[in-house]
Parts: sequence; structure tokens; C-alpha cells
Amino acid sequence: MKFCRYGPRGQEKPGLIDADGRIRDLSGVIADLTPQAIAGLSVDPASLPPVEGDPRYGVPVSGIGKIVAIGLNYEDHAIESNLPIPTEPVMFMKALSSLTGPNDEVMIPRDSTHTDWEVELGVVIGKTARYVEEAEALSYVAGYCVANDVSERFNQKERGSQWSKGKGHDTFCPVGPWLVTPDEVSDPQNLDMFLDVNGARMQTGNTKTMIFNVAELISYVSRFITLYPGDLMITGTPPGVGEGKKPEKIFLKAGDSMRLGIAGLGEQQQQVVAWRHLGDAVLG
Ligand code: ZN
Repeated sequence: MKFCRYGPRGQEKPGLIDADGRIRDLSGVIADLTPQAIAGLSVDPASLPPVEGDPRYGVPVSGIGKIVAIGLNYEDHAIESNLPIPTEPVMFMKALSSLTGPNDEVMIPRDSTHTDWEVELGVVIGKTARYVEEAEALSYVAGYCVANDVSERFNQKERGSQWSKGKGHDTFCPVGPWLVTPDEVSDPQNLDMFLDVNGARMQTGNTKTMIFNVAELISYVSRFITLYPGDLMITGTPPGVGEGKKPEKIFLKAGDSMRLGIAGLGEQQQQVVAWRHLGDAVLG
């Protein structure tokens, strides 16, 4: 099934996508969209009220506890980044406050000149994972989704040894539109993915060129950090990021638009806007 959360930020309701691609209201069945709420859920979409209009999509999972990100996980992307092919997964954390809906605005950080894009396969964990064996690892997946690992390259790479500074800015983690359950994803290691900026194709890839596959990553991460239901892992990006473009690097600026997607998991579209004060607004 394809699940979603829809509605204004902070007031999202659970939904599912019917055979015609329309949102059906699940709020009469479950309170919110979590792996626990949808585990074993059996519901006829046609029995649910259709949602009128064209509502905003939110992050398709409620209560994400952490975002574990994998870097340089596509061989060609490591090469374009002038970095060695990792012999172990590169792992970093992305701030929860960077979460945003799949079609929300992406905001350039104040004074940023190096904001870049990364289409990625997102994996939502369905049950507590500690020291998981690779052979069992995919049974820990609640679903798959599209994510954009938006990155400020100068803050990521030129301000010390950790990547977190360039990865966790507000609006830097659009997720969705859907959480697609594993039964609808016949092979997570054979999914076409793309990202366009202003209508020009920038990234073209397929999850089959991952260096470490999803099962290896879940097993690997679970040796260091316990993964809980609802945690999100994003699994690296294929070639075509802005900092890898030749002869000139390309970075995002206010007014640009991004469109990205993964086969069977849906598409995102983001307008890029200049930094502005958000006051006490809570994102995510
Ligand atoms: Zn990434």
C-alpha cells in the first residue's frame, strides 16, 4: 500500500492512495501514520472517504526518531566527489528539524552559496533493530520513500570534520509523498531515480549501483545505533549533484525549482526560496 500524511503543517492526517491515485482519509481508522499503526492493517481503500481538492503532503511518517544518512554510497558519486570508494558505509546524522513535506519550499541558509541536491531512497524502519543479520534485515523495513538530502557543501566540508553542519538546515530533508510498503516494491535494488533542476535533468541513477545495499546498511547501522520503528535511513545519492558538475559547479539559488522521483515511490517538487526568519516555527 501507499500511505501518506496530508494537510497543513502540524495538522496532517493519515491517508492512503487508492487505485486511481487519489488520497483516501484514514483518520477514521488510525490516529496517525506510524509503522505500528499500519502493521497488519487491512482496509479496503474504496471504503474510506475520498479527500477533496489538492491538499499538501506532509512527511509520510509521524514521530521519526532519528535520520541516519549514508554518504558516498554510489560508486560514480564518490568518484565525482573526488573521494575514495568507501570500504565501510559512511554514516552521519541529519537533524530532525530539517524534515519537511515533499513539495514544501526549500530554503537557502543565510549567506549560503553552495546549496546542493541529492535524490535518495529513504527506508523507514518497522521494528526495533539491534545487531540485525543481513539476511533478516529487509524484514525490518516498514516502507520506502523518496527523500532529498539537501546539502550545503561549504558547511558540510569546509568548516571542520563533520558533515552535520551542512546537512541539517531547516527544510533540508523533504520526504514523501508516500510511504510505500515493501510488498509493492519488488526489488529495492532496482529502482530508477532522477532529479531535475529548472527542468534540466541533473541526476539519473538506479539503486542497483549502490555500494552497500539496503540490507547491508540496516545490518551495519544496527551495530552502532539501535533503530526504532519510524526511524528514517537515507541511503546515498547517485551521480549528478551540483558540486560534481563540469566545467562549472552548479548550486541552488532562490527561484530555482527541483523535481525528483523514484520509480514506484512518487515524485517531489520544491521551490527554492531565500532564507527568512522563521521565528519560533517548528518544522519537521
Ligand atoms: Zn546524501
